[in-house]
Amino acid sequence: MAQTTPNHTVEVSGWAALEPSGDIVPYLFKRRENGENDVTIEIKYCGICHSDLHYIKNDWGITIYPVVPGHEITGVISKVGSNVRELKVGDKVGVGCLAASCLDCDFCRASQENYCDGVQFTYNGVFWDGSLTYGGYSTLLVADRRFVVRLPDHLPMDAAAPLLCAGITVFCPMKDNGMLASPGKRLGVVGLGGLGHVAVKFGKAFGLHVTVISSSPSKEEEARQRLAADDFIVSTDVEQMQAAKRSLDFILDTVSAHHSLGPTLDLLKVNGTLIIVAAPDKPIDLPSFPLIFGKRTVKGSMIGGIKETQEMMDLCGKYNITCDVEVIKPAQINQALERLARNDVRYRFVINIAGEH
Ligand code: NAP
Ligand code: ZN
Repeated sequence: MAQTTPNHTVEVSGWAALEPSGDIVPYLFKRRENGENDVTIEIKYCGICHSDLHYIKNDWGITIYPVVPGHEITGVISKVGSNVRELKVGDKVGVGCLAASCLDCDFCRASQENYCDGVQFTYNGVFWDGSLTYGGYSTLLVADRRFVVRLPDHLPMDAAAPLLCAGITVFCPMKDNGMLASPGKRLGVVGLGGLGHVAVKFGKAFGLHVTVISSSPSKEEEARQRLAADDFIVSTDVEQMQAAKRSLDFILDTVSAHHSLGPTLDLLKVNGTLIIVAAPDKPIDLPSFPLIFGKRTVKGSMIGGIKETQEMMDLCGKYNITCDVEVIKPAQINQALERLARNDVRYRFVINIAGEH
């Protein structure tokens, strides 16, 4: 049953999971009227992130059904509120994972809204008016102006959509750990999926030596030729893993399934850093020996703030970086989710929202 909140009068059609079976069905609901700080966005494309799958299946035990997933949203503004100066009707924009935050804490003031204690996400969150948030598997979004980014005009709106989550999630830890200004340093990317393939593209754009560490030997040729990865290691091949010991300065771990960090940590040089962005449903194993023998650091990172998202988007515009996508119609969402679950996507599904329903 769709919720009823005063001022939520805008009828929207979307696609939702009603329970954890994983099935997505057409779903009608209401959004708030466009407020003075809001923009209304006609959604054109929405990426399918593995986090959508985690939410749909209630992997993390926090899903509120019905859930309308989707946080890699691109579209065109069709309405602006009276306080909106920086955006206008007709602008191409993007919305990622963030819908609201307290706007007042140290993190919000530094545009690190993603780490605000009161952060609310684009779906499965609670907006300031108490309503549940519904995401981008839908035709229209009402978003607060402070959580919207501008898209460079020349970037295609389908291939740019995954930058709003996959892109910013790998960009931030790369920036935070000095990788954007360390040409020649050696980066390992574990898991060549939605997040991983953008990390490879960013790594190459910033002059890093990039090694893909993958469980899928079938991805090697494409990783080297299409994504320009410098090296490719099959994570289940003990000899290849052994040969690459102590060779990397940084590793980004994007593996969506349960795994151990032990073999991966051994690939780091002494003092190297492994950043976890993946969020499997079960805790990741962290054996102490590869940590202490290499004085290595393991840390986490979650998406990015709005200012950083705009910075990343502008850089993607400058260097012409977009994602490798398979564009689908809304009627194909279930099939796409099944394929994503069995690791069969190159490298992101993106829904053409206006495509035949
Ligand atoms: P994805 O497209 O499905 O990619 C995940 C990759 O992990 C796969 O392509 C595969 O790469 C590897 N993998 C999957 N199952 C595996 C298994 N059983 N054993 C070994 N490797 C396996 O997912 P994604 O959208 O990139 O998201 C990745 C993870 O990041 C998810 O857990 C997601 O929830 C999380 N995430 C976190 C943030 C954040 O803010 N920190 C943001 C977005 C997403 P290979 O075939 O190369 O092995
Ligand atoms: Zn995501």
